[in-house]
Amino acid sequence: MKLDARIPSGPLERKWSQHKFELKLVNPANKRKYTVLMVGSGLAGAGGAAALAELGYEVKCFCYQDSPRRAHSIAAQGGINASKNYHNDGDSVFRLFYDTVKGGDFRSREANVYRLAEVSGNIIDQCAALGVPFAREYGGLLDNRSFGGAQVSRTFYARGQTGQQLLLGAYQALERQIGLGKVQMFARHEMLELIVVDGRARGIVVRDLLTGELETHIGDAVCLATGGYGNVFYLSTNAKGCNTTAIWRAYRRGAGFANPCFTQIHPTCIPVTGEHQSKLTLMSESLRNDGRIWVPKQQGDARPADRIPEQERDYYLERKYPSYGNLAPRDISSRAAKQVCDEGRGVGPGGQGVYLDFSDAIGRLGEDAIREKYGNLFEMYERITAENPYRVPMRIYPAAHYTMGGLWVDYNLMSTIPGLFVLGEANFSDHGANRLGASALMQGLADGYFVIPYTIGDYLARTRHASVPEDHPDVRAAVAEVHGRLERLLAVNGKRTPTSFHRELGRVLWEDCGMTRNRAGLERALQLVPALREEFWRNVTVAGEAGELNQSLELAGRVADFLELAELMCRDALTRDESCGCHFREEHQTEDGEALRDDERYCHVAVWEYAGDGRPPVRHEEPLEYETVHLATRSYK
Ligand SMILES: Cc1cc2nc3c(=O)[nH]c(=O)nc-3n(C[C@H](O)[C@H](O)[C@H](O)COP(=O)(O)OP(=O)(O)OC[C@H]3O[C@@H](n4cnc5c(N)ncnc54)[C@H](O)[C@@H]3O)c2cc1C
Repeated sequence: MKLDARIPSGPLERKWSQHKFELKLVNPANKRKYTVLMVGSGLAGAGGAAALAELGYEVKCFCYQDSPRRAHSIAAQGGINASKNYHNDGDSVFRLFYDTVKGGDFRSREANVYRLAEVSGNIIDQCAALGVPFAREYGGLLDNRSFGGAQVSRTFYARGQTGQQLLLGAYQALERQIGLGKVQMFARHEMLELIVVDGRARGIVVRDLLTGELETHIGDAVCLATGGYGNVFYLSTNAKGCNTTAIWRAYRRGAGFANPCFTQIHPTCIPVTGEHQSKLTLMSESLRNDGRIWVPKQQGDARPADRIPEQERDYYLERKYPSYGNLAPRDISSRAAKQVCDEGRGVGPGGQGVYLDFSDAIGRLGEDAIREKYGNLFEMYERITAENPYRVPMRIYPAAHYTMGGLWVDYNLMSTIPGLFVLGEANFSDHGANRLGASALMQGLADGYFVIPYTIGDYLARTRHASVPEDHPDVRAAVAEVHGRLERLLAVNGKRTPTSFHRELGRVLWEDCGMTRNRAGLERALQLVPALREEFWRNVTVAGEAGELNQSLELAGRVADFLELAELMCRDALTRDESCGCHFREEHQTEDGEALRDDERYCHVAVWEYAGDGRPPVRHEEPLEYETVHLATRSYK
């Protein structure tokens, strides 16, 4: 596998504009001769599909929900970053770039991150033009708030529903192109295989989820914008449908998988309450603008929060990280919460919780001001916990949330399979070992609206495409593979549901490849996961038939892929024998318990190549070169 990141030469701040100039163009009259397959209609996919159709390409867009509007992006709450410096508080493209590189613990590519910061302002303009109702200040300017890992206010938001409003904007742009006949939308279609012809991505096999029929779609390029794989943990903040299938199928066809072990555990989620739960709920990081996090100083202090006097409370983030306080980045805040709970100072049932307390802010600003900013989040919390957060502090605990790992892409967002592009959370591109809050929406929209429209043209203009008939041997082989797999799942006829396997897998990963990891735990997981996978193929039960609407079959397929991915995550975590960002190997920590990087041996992207069933995958490295930012110990103190 050859890894050429294609990072343009020249000064950092000129790379993208120079690159855009050097990219080959497709003549406007020729664009309609090309068909692009866009899998996914979240912010990255809907934005990308609309932008490509607007340029004149023919686009086919696929999603498994009943409408593009239901992509998981809709769940995003807190906001989207951009370096507009509206608050005049010292923000700039460079500061956003720097914060992101530092936030990712120096494990991301400088050039990509700089480009992201550079286009961030355009994203806000584009979304405002599409009608996204961002919050405004009294004077009419767009308002900003702060997110973790930054000391400026650069997060644009629409109450606690930013993702929903951004997605409605992207959806309208997409619908416009559907109305014009430039985009064909295939809702309730799940991609189950990538078609590679002569070494290039040329199509996909999808299953119509209503009829069960398999279809093939051929195009000149394939884009995957299929979101993250955080649901591998079973309990996560992701929508239940989020899965890894599209990128996992592409991996098995030759696309490199980068940093699979980089998974973000978000510090502020509603704690687990019991075995019955099938998902967890995020309480947006924006709440840390006004909420203060604390636990009792005393172990086992079971008094209600309002009976614990001020001097007996430990505002541990403010104490340990005075310059960032409650807005310390997610990886650090999550580990700090785990640590105080492990010390026996956690609150709530089982001691697996910390307080997020708004009493100070309510006293200072008034309840109405807090309701105005976070009303829907407070309401959500109350509905789930039956506690009123205006009166008693919220109880929160870390949960699996986002995946920085994903398919490896070059600067043009192309994977190691020519013609296969990867956008949004599905790729590994910009966040290194830890993503800063409000940067995922920024990245998804940057990829979709502002990067892929340029870079895909270069690929298409440089590539001669023979037509691929439906009965091409590679197409037939891909369909046969999918068919065989579905039949195999149905034929097992065992005794355990896909969900029970998924839950057990999640438990193993959470224990051994979660917030902290160590060699013994990872080696144990590398025994347990293959054994669980073996049992799955012997003992899973899948009801119904392939040729009908069959959610049991859909789920079984996704769990089967998670069972393979989980092993790669553990392997990656075991091989990266250092701590960085979210990847905290207990063997490698500073005296005060912070992540201890090993830049000599691990300042690279780890990229895994599939080598066939039963064979260990091959690990490759893309060295990370820091020309502008100096590698430094990350500190938020
Ligand atoms: C609760 C929550 C709150 C968040 N809040 C914020 C926030 O405030 N700010 C921020 O920056 N980030 C936030 N994030 C992260 C952010 O929402 C996501 O990273 C981002 O929306 C992902 O967008 P995407 O377009 O890459 O993927 P998604 O929105 O997940 O879309 C994936 C698309 O791919 C389709 N798809 C997937 N697999 C297949 C398949 N096999 N076949 C066909 N279609 C397929 C789906 O149908 C869907 O259309 C939050 C995440 C969560 C979980």
